[in-house]
Amino acid sequence: MSKAKAVPPGAVIGILGGGQLGRMLALAAARLGLRTHVYAPEEDSPAFAVAHAHTRAAWDDTAALSRFAENVDVVTYEFENVPLQAVALLARMRPVRPGERALAVAQDRWREKTFAAGLGITTPPFANIETEGDLAAAARAVPLPAVLKTRRFGYDGKGQVMLRPGDDLAMAWNTLGRVPCLLEGFVDFACEASVLVARGMDGVVVAYDVPRNEHERHVLRRSHVPSGLAPRTELRAVEIGRTLAGSLDHVGVLAVELFVVRQADGTETLVFNEMAPRVHNSGHWTEAACDMSQFEAHVRAICGWPLWPPERHHDCVMTNILGHEAKEWMRWAAEPGVVLHLYGKGTIREGRKMGHVTRLLPSHGAKTRQA
Ligand code: AMP
Repeated sequence: MSKAKAVPPGAVIGILGGGQLGRMLALAAARLGLRTHVYAPEEDSPAFAVAHAHTRAAWDDTAALSRFAENVDVVTYEFENVPLQAVALLARMRPVRPGERALAVAQDRWREKTFAAGLGITTPPFANIETEGDLAAAARAVPLPAVLKTRRFGYDGKGQVMLRPGDDLAMAWNTLGRVPCLLEGFVDFACEASVLVARGMDGVVVAYDVPRNEHERHVLRRSHVPSGLAPRTELRAVEIGRTLAGSLDHVGVLAVELFVVRQADGTETLVFNEMAPRVHNSGHWTEAACDMSQFEAHVRAICGWPLWPPERHHDCVMTNILGHEAKEWMRWAAEPGVVLHLYGKGTIREGRKMGHVTRLLPSHGAKTRQA
């Protein structure tokens, strides 16, 4: 067992980032008698409404960060683009879980793919582009079709350009502002999946069933559980999650997005896409269909509470509610077996994640504790 003392009920978890993930973490913490203090720069942060306290300040406001640290017992984050300088400052005052390492790796697509490949996890072919001089070598290493992605700050397909045979790599790099990029082979996948694991301070890792994920315009639309993938594919996915979490000495939930490639003979292989050192959209169904949600698992892990293997009691499909669809809330609210979660966002924008619904389906009786 880890020597660090458990963060007890009544203590305060500091959450960096005020989006829906922070909101759901705060709700899970409240259920365990823990308090939360959310730090975010945006005025309309949906997590503010459900936290015990909040600080609205910029990421480089060192005085506000120090005051925040003084008022919390442990710090976590709900998105991986928290500036590392802010995290480093906080880490001098309070434990930050997951640590700076997971964050540094996950913030940079090149570092993250290099890290995964170094652990024997299959990735698409990839090459780093930092200068004009890197372009020719990258073009040789990664045949087209390929995807050019900014190394940092890309999400939901933002900061990405698809390159087809005949397209000009230099021109695409110009389009992305000549910032450090990763050129990565296009994966002709049969479907996408993810794995969510939670790792405690004592090194115990628990895993959720693997969701199969459907994206629309690069944004997650639906997660299906069970995935319908071959059992050995799911086992491999969990192994990938465990390997990454263990190698990073991660504490908390870690989500890994994977491409499933199907060979002509039906066998499936998994190709690493990216990871998030935090709770993840493709795990929202755990709140309605499991005896411990990903949010609770994360809170338990960072507070040094015991983790036990979560069990799924229903099959389910989680669907994101995007933009103006939120106006349909009454329709979902009226449907039995549909667990509705709205994020309380005041402003509707095209494609904005406004909430999600988890449609519970009869389970086929499978007991799915993974560890
Ligand atoms: P990302 O932001 O890297 O997760 O990319 C968003 C989505 O773009 C993924 O979920 C895939 O649907 C698609 N995508 C990204 N990279 C690739 C790739 N190398 N090959 C095929 N599709 C990709």
